[in-house]
Amino acid sequence: MTDPAILWFRQDLRLGDNPVLAVAAERPVLPVFVFEDGPRAPGGAARWWLHHSLAALAGALAERGAPLVILRGDAREIIPRLAAEIGATEVHAGRQTEPLARSRDAATHAALEATGRRLVLHRNALLHEPHRVRTGEGRPYGVYTPFSRAVFALLEGLPPPLPAPGRLRPAAGAPSGLPLDGLGLLPAPPVPDWAAEFREHWTPGESGAHARLAAFLEHGLDRYAARRNMPGVAWGTSGLSPHLHLGEISPRQVWHAAREKGGAGLETFLKELLWREFSHHLLWHRPEMVDTPLRPEFAAFPWREDAALLRAWQRGRTGYPIVDAGMRELWRTGWMHNRVRMIAASFLVKHLLQPWQAGEAWFWDTLVDADLANNCASWQWVAGCGADAAPYFRIFNPVLQGEKFDPEGAYVRRWCPELARLPDRFIHRPHEAPEAVLREAGIVIGRDWPAPLVDLAEGRARALAAFAAIKGGE
Ligand code: FAD
Repeated sequence: MTDPAILWFRQDLRLGDNPVLAVAAERPVLPVFVFEDGPRAPGGAARWWLHHSLAALAGALAERGAPLVILRGDAREIIPRLAAEIGATEVHAGRQTEPLARSRDAATHAALEATGRRLVLHRNALLHEPHRVRTGEGRPYGVYTPFSRAVFALLEGLPPPLPAPGRLRPAAGAPSGLPLDGLGLLPAPPVPDWAAEFREHWTPGESGAHARLAAFLEHGLDRYAARRNMPGVAWGTSGLSPHLHLGEISPRQVWHAAREKGGAGLETFLKELLWREFSHHLLWHRPEMVDTPLRPEFAAFPWREDAALLRAWQRGRTGYPIVDAGMRELWRTGWMHNRVRMIAASFLVKHLLQPWQAGEAWFWDTLVDADLANNCASWQWVAGCGADAAPYFRIFNPVLQGEKFDPEGAYVRRWCPELARLPDRFIHRPHEAPEAVLREAGIVIGRDWPAPLVDLAEGRARALAAFAAIKGGE
């Protein structure tokens, strides 16, 4: 075969274990990335990551002889036009689960087909095929445990990852595309460089992803089951989520590497990877979940929208240290520990009665790992309206959660340094500390640290009453 193929990169910004690249063994290729604006375009933090990830991919492709062409606009028009221009009969890409991506792919395929070309989709973002995995009755899964059991069994025969390709043959007639900077993905004056600290925490790109995996396998996997809920410890979790989101590393590479390493934390870790699969399974089968509660009775939930409360939560000024530490970690690093995400999200939707969509939108804009499937499934889970949500009355108490999972306050002291001098006993409840203890720690409530936005018992009772109202309305 000599006619060229387009390799359309989307959320698979890597060379290793990428079936899309297998086609390059047979024919010249044109690697392309199209940045699309519009609804659900990446948020601010994810754009920062995308910039650096594209830079890494472009470098790796150029080294192999087929530079990446970066374009901006509507891929449904750009891709078919490009295929016609260079005489490509096939466009290869990874399958995505996001509803807008699916409709865009269907439209692109139709446009290509009209001129005798085709879009070929490969599984390169997930371990399972959402349209193939079904319950005994032939339905999609709606509950995690049976889903994970079924997928675990399937994965027994998971083939090993594919090697990265060697030299690539570039297609002739490639357009020059935009310089990466032309996408404007990084914060630029007059906007302050809010991403300054991101660089200390992250190395986007394929080699950064593999370095992180290797470090986690060495320092974290063995004790993962025991420490994954402790936000204050180093390597309690892998931090692989932004790399997995953009496909800088494949879940198959992570799966196999973790199994090879083995050890006490292995099974728990693999189960977490399957939560990601489950979220994408849900999104594939219930695309409405991006903005609509999966439990219909929640459509009438009596939220009390309040811009000031939402803002205090966003800024890490709720007066509950574990929530505020999490929101500040998010702002400064673009990431938040999973346990703290659950606590902070629950506080917003239950104690403050703010709609989960408002929290989801903030996370979408501020997380480097913002992922439509994981974010929406998790917010719905916390809000109680998700497919497999915990019973509504299990409302996280941020003080008790903090004391349980951050007992010495290492996490809180790191992100809320104004509390650093409080003794352990009051680190998660500064508002209850006696005057003398506060004075000793240099804190005046209301001046150095906010008074709690809501009383926990009152907030809990209000949330339960709101839930009772929709249950009564069934
Ligand atoms: P590890 O514990 O090392 O787990 C390994 C991988 O498994 C993760 O990288 C991730 O891909 C997957 N994983 C782990 N936990 C979950 C989970 N609960 N659900 C789905 N996949 C999981 N994750 C995102 O990737 N993007 C999001 O936008 C996102 N939004 C969230 C919003 C809320 C309110 C909550 C409660 C959770 C959200 N999560 C999201 C899930 C989870 O918090 C992150 O995946 C996890 O914190 C990433 O850290 P890690 O890579 O160190 O995870």
